[in-house]
Amino acid sequence: MMTTTFTLAFEGPPACIDCTRQGVPSCTHIGFNAAAWDIGGQQVTAPGLDERYMHTVTHVEISADRKTVTVAVDTERPPLMDLARHLSTRADPITKAAVRAVDNDSGEVLGEGRFDAFLVDGQPIYIGGKPYTVASTDHPGRNEHGVVPNGGVDWQEARVVPREEPTITPLSLWPTP
Ligand SMILES: [Zn+2]
Repeated sequence: MMTTTFTLAFEGPPACIDCTRQGVPSCTHIGFNAAAWDIGGQQVTAPGLDERYMHTVTHVEISADRKTVTVAVDTERPPLMDLARHLSTRADPITKAAVRAVDNDSGEVLGEGRFDAFLVDGQPIYIGGKPYTVASTDHPGRNEHGVVPNGGVDWQEARVVPREEPTITPLSLWPTP
């Protein structure tokens, strides 16, 4: 989770027509409209925000002169399968996919459990909050006919490799007042 605050400048004329006629260079009759910026809790995209992440508006503040609006967003990684969170406590070997995630280099078992579906090659997952990619999958218990003999559990062994998470690009494109 990362919080970013950015400020937008109103790009319209600084004063309304009446005030402009009277020689007033800037007035509060024109500018950002609070009703239009009632976007708290909404997910937004904006130039400068990394599109690979979800950005949820937590705070909006329009300046007294209505010429700038400051928006705070919380940035979170997109929802991905985390093995720990997708573990099923139901002991149901027929309808649940038994998955064992193994470190591709060390062979260490990183996590195992029953899931709604087997993992697939290339799938991005999290194990204990750390990012991994599924490098290959195998069903070592299956025989030459593709079945596990004697009603055994059809474990899928997924070899996983650590995945580099993209860093969140800081906001840089918005003008600052
Ligand atoms: Zn005015």
